[in-house]
Amino acid sequence: MRRFDVAIIGGGIVGLATATELTRTTGATVVVLESEGRVAAHQTGHNSGVIHSGLYYKPGSLKARNCTAGRDAMYRFCEAHDIPHERCGKLVVATSEEEIPALDELERRGVANGLEGLKRVAGEELGEYEPHVAGVDGLWVPSTGIVSYTAVTEAYARLVQERGGEVRTRSRVLAISQFSDGVTLETASGTVHAKALINCAGLQSDRVARMAGMDPGLQIIPFRGEYYELVPAKHHLVKNLIYPVPDPRFPFLGVHFTRMVGGGVEAGPNAVLALRREGYERTSFDPGDALEMVTFPGFWKLAAKHWRMGAGEFHRSFSKVAFVHALQRLLPEIEEEDLVPAEAGVRAQAVEASGALVDDFRIVEGTGSIHVLNAPSPAATASISIGQHIARLARARFELSPA
Ligand SMILES: Cc1cc2nc3c(=O)[nH]c(=O)nc-3n(C[C@H](O)[C@H](O)[C@H](O)COP(=O)(O)OP(=O)(O)OC[C@H]3O[C@@H](n4cnc5c(N)ncnc54)[C@H](O)[C@@H]3O)c2cc1C
Repeated sequence: MRRFDVAIIGGGIVGLATATELTRTTGATVVVLESEGRVAAHQTGHNSGVIHSGLYYKPGSLKARNCTAGRDAMYRFCEAHDIPHERCGKLVVATSEEEIPALDELERRGVANGLEGLKRVAGEELGEYEPHVAGVDGLWVPSTGIVSYTAVTEAYARLVQERGGEVRTRSRVLAISQFSDGVTLETASGTVHAKALINCAGLQSDRVARMAGMDPGLQIIPFRGEYYELVPAKHHLVKNLIYPVPDPRFPFLGVHFTRMVGGGVEAGPNAVLALRREGYERTSFDPGDALEMVTFPGFWKLAAKHWRMGAGEFHRSFSKVAFVHALQRLLPEIEEEDLVPAEAGVRAQAVEASGALVDDFRIVEGTGSIHVLNAPSPAATASISIGQHIARLARARFELSPA
């Protein structure tokens, strides 16, 4: 049986970006193992499709560094591989005077993170960028763009295969045995041997880490993000991307309007606690996932701290009126009948036993293994840069031969 140098668990954008970089820079034999019948089946294929600028993140954090570098690399990759994308810019809108200090802080972070062309847009001037928006202040961010991350991930997979790597779908990893000279993975499509393991399993990354004998020190809590789509007659209300000023206490950006690269405009996502990790419906429930969540002490600490916000998100999930009300703060002309439900996504948010939401990307090295334990937004934007970072760690740790 063939023995690979590196087995990557997860055919999402992070796993495949890592495989792309490893096959480009080393002579290592690489296999990507994906549970589903296609790549990009979970977070990567269910997101807003925004190429983030790097505005929001604490200067010096992994998010800030990888987002700004990854954004430029993403634009170059899309150009080189003919992937439809647009650098259309976005407007962040303060809808009340109370939000202005947080907008000031975003601008400071943007400048510290090296963003070019940021422009403060006051009152009337907002209409020059987004004619239907309402607000007291705004920040124009020209380096933001749109793309389909499914298309990007499919391109990564093609490159990996062209360079001799394997991408095996329908290959859920069920068990992992570690030996002194490598790992054996039992998968839904057979046994795989490899010298080293890279865990990019997204919503399952904590479980995969435990399967590999490592204590991740955190648990993935799933947060569903629900979207509506604007009916075609109302597309004219949104030129590009319109975002609120986010609540700095949470890692989510608040419901926004996003023009999609394939056409149409989405509104959302909210952030509702999900009772199933890959649960895309309001009624989705998995007894194992729910039990694991409620027996995790970090969940109750998180709930005690943020129950009010959680209750508001639940309310917005079940009440379209409440969802529309949140959107009307940005676009007062939007009415309930202008929106039809669209497909949801589920975010993998790592939470520590203390109840703290893990804010930054978290990539941890084990024996013969590397684990990506927290890769929320903007990990799709930053995927090329994250892949390069993981490949650097792998080259140093797994003694991979050069290309
Ligand atoms: C609603 C929403 C909106 C977002 N908007 C944006 C945005 O606009 N811009 C941006 O940059 N980011 C955005 N993000 C974040 C971005 O989508 C994620 O950060 C990124 O897709 C993470 O990629 P991943 O490869 O780590 O995870 P995933 O895409 O979830 O991939 C993990 C893969 O691992 C597989 N897997 C799991 N367990 C196993 C196993 N045991 N064996 C084999 N395979 C396994 C899964 O099937 C899955 O395909 C958004 C996310 C969501 C949910």
